[in-house]
Amino acid sequence: METASADEKRSIEEICREYMAFISRAKTERMVVDEIVALLGSNGFKNIDTVKKWRAGTKLYMTNRGKNVVAAVLGKRHPVEGANLVAAHGDAPRLDLKQKPLYEDGETRLALFKTHYYGGIKKYQWVNIPLSLHGKVVLSDGREIDLHIGEDPSDPVFTICDLLPHLYRKKQAERKLSEGITGEELNVLLASMPADEKDPKKKVKTWVLEHLNKEYGMIEEDFVSSELEIVPAGPAREIGLDRSMIGAYGQDDRICAYTCMRALLEVKGNERTAIGFVMDKEEIGSDGPTSIKSRFLEDFYSRLMDLRDPDHPDSALRRSLSNTLAISSDVNGAVNPSFKDVHELQNAARMGYGICVTKYTGSGGKVASNDASAEFMGVIRRILNNGKVPWQVGELGKVDEGGGGTVAKFLAEHNMDVVDAGPALISMHSPMEISSKGDVWATYRAYKEFFGYCP
Ligand code: MN
Ligand code: MN
Repeated sequence: METASADEKRSIEEICREYMAFISRAKTERMVVDEIVALLGSNGFKNIDTVKKWRAGTKLYMTNRGKNVVAAVLGKRHPVEGANLVAAHGDAPRLDLKQKPLYEDGETRLALFKTHYYGGIKKYQWVNIPLSLHGKVVLSDGREIDLHIGEDPSDPVFTICDLLPHLYRKKQAERKLSEGITGEELNVLLASMPADEKDPKKKVKTWVLEHLNKEYGMIEEDFVSSELEIVPAGPAREIGLDRSMIGAYGQDDRICAYTCMRALLEVKGNERTAIGFVMDKEEIGSDGPTSIKSRFLEDFYSRLMDLRDPDHPDSALRRSLSNTLAISSDVNGAVNPSFKDVHELQNAARMGYGICVTKYTGSGGKVASNDASAEFMGVIRRILNNGKVPWQVGELGKVDEGGGGTVAKFLAEHNMDVVDAGPALISMHSPMEISSKGDVWATYRAYKEFFGYCP
């Protein structure tokens, strides 16, 4: 953003400082929701259960199973006229512990966790880096405990061990890159100390179980009722001599989750209701009750309608949804200077060139794409230009190169207009995704302008 004014530069640095603190803490979909609920709460948003009547300007939120949060600033118009909705996802590719994760390798006497990766990862990127463990365990008596190990500088971290180059020639060097590390080789190093040095039957695994029992009251079967996630350890960092970029795990799509909620905090006096939504399970195809395919969003709309008119007919709810204008706020892939040829550069997104509007996603012949209409692209373009927001358009790669999808098509099932728009990242889905500070700001600005739009 060379053209940014001094005021804008200050605003960019401020938003990015807040965003980096957020993304450093929000390491799982649950933690994203916790952080956002805290942010909303300290900015005057109330739980929808405590709101009795529709009043323009009321700020409220609703959560779902600790993994979704939807927040709104009520508008002056009737909800039947629709809302302006920005929807992001809080889940990110990671390694989940298996149902029976713990084992001790007999020959090496090392204890490890078996994992099952979640979402689209390049598995070789997850070895030899510091990893942390986060999640929830439900004990046999129903008590719930939260585990967070590996973020505090005084915590230990975990890691996955790759093969040394001296011995990798026959075993690994000839493998295809996608199999350089296989799913079953993503085992997390956990402990090396036997429970009792003098008694060989007292194994390292026993030490681990005794430790978990002492610290958390856990027994081995409790893993069955747990959601424990292995993610890259450590905070977000500024990248580059000029500190113009941000490197962090989980920026897809927490960069949108944050900027959308940050923009919502500043909504005031709008004609239309502004809604920010963070859903889950996008990275594995949006199934399950916390995904965009769940009726949760519809339930929220119904609750909003109730505030205005408790006897509203179902048709009013449907009109409220279909009159909504939506941004599927998700990231795009920015051109990586070392791998330019996967892109068609005239239609590729570049990092640092503002929010990227993606008319269609999908693969091959736009398969499984929402493909926003010319009319709605016209609306979005006018909003961004009138608001002087830096923006660009971008396709994810060459036509026949590969592709990917977002939740736009699921929002469109409500018959609402929707388009994808979010920043473009380099090294998407890696343990260190790269964004531009200027794009974080442009994205926040774009969502703020969009929330204020009234046709
Ligand atoms: Mn995404
Ligand atoms: Mn993704």
